[in-house]
Amino acid sequence: MLFQSVCFIGMGLIGSSLARRMRRDGLVGNITCAVRSAETRDTVKRLGLADAAFLDIGQAVTDADLVMVCAPVGANKSIAQQMTGRLKPGCIVSDVGSVKSAVIADLMPCIGAGIDLVPGHPVAGTEHSGPEAGFAELFEQRWCILTPLPQTRPAATAAVRALWEAVGMKVEEMAPQHHDLVLGMTSHLPHLIAYSIVGTAQHLEDTSEKEVTKFSAGGFRDFTRIAASDPVMWRDVFLNNRDAMLELLGQFQEDLIRLQHAIRWQDGAYLEDWFNRTRTVRRAIVETGQDYKRFSAEGEVRKGR
Ligand code: NAP
Repeated sequence: MLFQSVCFIGMGLIGSSLARRMRRDGLVGNITCAVRSAETRDTVKRLGLADAAFLDIGQAVTDADLVMVCAPVGANKSIAQQMTGRLKPGCIVSDVGSVKSAVIADLMPCIGAGIDLVPGHPVAGTEHSGPEAGFAELFEQRWCILTPLPQTRPAATAAVRALWEAVGMKVEEMAPQHHDLVLGMTSHLPHLIAYSIVGTAQHLEDTSEKEVTKFSAGGFRDFTRIAASDPVMWRDVFLNNRDAMLELLGQFQEDLIRLQHAIRWQDGAYLEDWFNRTRTVRRAIVETGQDYKRFSAEGEVRKGR
């Protein structure tokens, strides 16, 4: 057992997946959670995800050795306010947010003496949300990034690392700003592009008698899957990773204009060279075993979707 008592703030896809896995493998003695609505509390009870579910965050966290914040990142400021003065000495606060610098700034006010903050981001997920969408194998063989602060005690970081390793993840540590730039590139920008393309197609659909849906080939279908991701979670990611997103969007627009220029001036060599270089990226991802579909499809097939 890694922790005697763990409290989840938010029991959606990520929180419920971690709770399921911790229970399944006996990693925790007691699980509590704070949820927003009586409806989610009933679902948590029905699925047996926690020993006790509270609507009051302060009440939920009082006995916890580990508080795992699993809500959309825009909620963290208010969550921190509600946890202030309610955490027990020695408690570790961690989170799963897709953005790290803003999350640290929002959670820091509740980190008093004797309490450690170990920010984290398990890079694993699906486009589904809510407590019913979780499954114990979600984290298997994927990366988890921890961004401990200079003042975080090494023992606290080691305890959170041990948890993610126990649920099947490979763990790496990096600075929060670096995390936000890297994940901005590998996750946030692709999501924004998917939201953008599917929105453009939707506008076209209005004038094309539903032919976009009818003839949607693999490429567009994959974008629609990503663009079906949770609107609140992704709104918060973009608003809270503003600097990195603006930098990456600038670079992306410049590259897009170069490709537009090549198409306009019939520069086939430029296009072919570009596509050959991008193909090597795909091969490298497959070779390192990080082919996303292998993992998300397993979860979806298993759940009968
Ligand atoms: P989710 O399935 O939508 O679950 C979010 C949970 O947070 C729900 O239980 C929700 O309660 C609760 N919540 C929402 N707003 C809240 C508020 N203002 N105060 C307290 N609780 C609130 O989301 P998720 O996919 O698990 O994502 C949770 C976190 O994980 C996010 O920070 C996200 O950035 C990060 N993350 C997500 C993925 C992914 O692919 N989904 C991957 C890695 C990390 P209700 O049930 O009452 O709505």
